Amino acid sequence: MEKTSSPRAGACDRWPRVVFRRPGSHFKALGRRSAIFTHRVHLLSLFGFDVWIDASWLLLAALISWSLAQSVFPGVVPHLPPATYWWMAVAATIGFLFSIIFHEMSHSLVARHYGMPIRGITLFIFGGVAEMGGEPPSAKSEFLMAAAGPAASFVLSAVFFLLLWLGEAWRVPAALKGTLWYLGFINSLLASFNLVPAFPLDGGRMLRAALWQWRKDLLWATRIASRAGDLFGILLIVLGAFSIITGHFVSGMWRFLIGMFLRGAASASYQQVVARTTLEGMPVSRVMTPQPISVSPDLTLDSFIEDYVYRYHHRSFPVTTDGTLIGSVGTEQVAQIDRADWTATKVGQIMIRHEREDQVAPGSDALAALAQMQRTGKSRLWVVEQNKLVGILSLRDVMQLLSTKLQLEQSQHAAAPTAKP
Ligand SMILES: [Zn+2]
Repeated sequence: MEKTSSPRAGACDRWPRVVFRRPGSHFKALGRRSAIFTHRVHLLSLFGFDVWIDASWLLLAALISWSLAQSVFPGVVPHLPPATYWWMAVAATIGFLFSIIFHEMSHSLVARHYGMPIRGITLFIFGGVAEMGGEPPSAKSEFLMAAAGPAASFVLSAVFFLLLWLGEAWRVPAALKGTLWYLGFINSLLASFNLVPAFPLDGGRMLRAALWQWRKDLLWATRIASRAGDLFGILLIVLGAFSIITGHFVSGMWRFLIGMFLRGAASASYQQVVARTTLEGMPVSRVMTPQPISVSPDLTLDSFIEDYVYRYHHRSFPVTTDGTLIGSVGTEQVAQIDRADWTATKVGQIMIRHEREDQVAPGSDALAALAQMQRTGKSRLWVVEQNKLVGILSLRDVMQLLSTKLQLEQSQHAAAPTAKP
């Protein structure tokens, strides 16, 4: 019986908030988390958690239904009409959907017990994700939070197998038994797959929590666990490629894609921890560019272009009067004014008025400032102290700092084995 032709999902927790390239490369971009799931609809609310379904999940559902109706169910319960296999497939897919919700809900309930905010549960092409705000407060809470998902899936699997056993006694139709068998099987598979110690799968989180508890070093623990995640990702990619070559295109492609996803998620999660440990508690004044070049509102546009834009090559400049920040101006605003009017138009007439969400205090936490950038979508913040502009915090500065830190961490890691006498 070819069960492996059924695509299956890895229910990974927590999407990376920070999206980057491969390890060794530099920090790339910080996207708002909601941007990852662009086409999702609200499915239901359970225990105060919102459950969303991303459009990509429909592809997973279609693949599962198709493989169940075409190959899995005809193998498990032969000699049924094709329409019955399709009904079984649809019922099993809906059961699978609720199995994933059950898995993620278990993570979410344990997370809430430990005071971790949950943004909601989203089902997407590789399974489901409980979006948690921030890192777990302790190794113990992370371990229990991670273990809750596979434990729930094993329990659910046992329930379906128990129902199947009762079904034998009660002589229920073969179609129902086949569906129950599949749901018991898929939940065991979901639990087992997620127990692989490959971060950020649940097993990888448990590994990280254990290492974290042992050495009291979250960064080191994350590095080891995500290295395991990366290796497992490579293994899946190789296995997937092998399946594709040997003619199992769909299952091969599936492994290949999950492998790619895992590698990306492992590296992103690690870099997120680097960002967190680096920036937490660091004041904005340490990262910002101090004393930025600012312009007066009385400056005419031709002088602005000639003396500032061509000279400093910045895209936009803060506008100040006596050091007090009142707005900002850039080439985008100038471009809207007819060139003939540049000598008669002043910066103050076209500048964008300053808003509170664009500013940050020099003593603020750099991690909080980064979160502010993510929330507002601004790639730079004005650093203001008592209404006076004292600096600019750009996303590029922060990323530069983080990639330097990451490179140092990685070179240290590479040097560690040889450094021992
Ligand atoms: Zn999980």
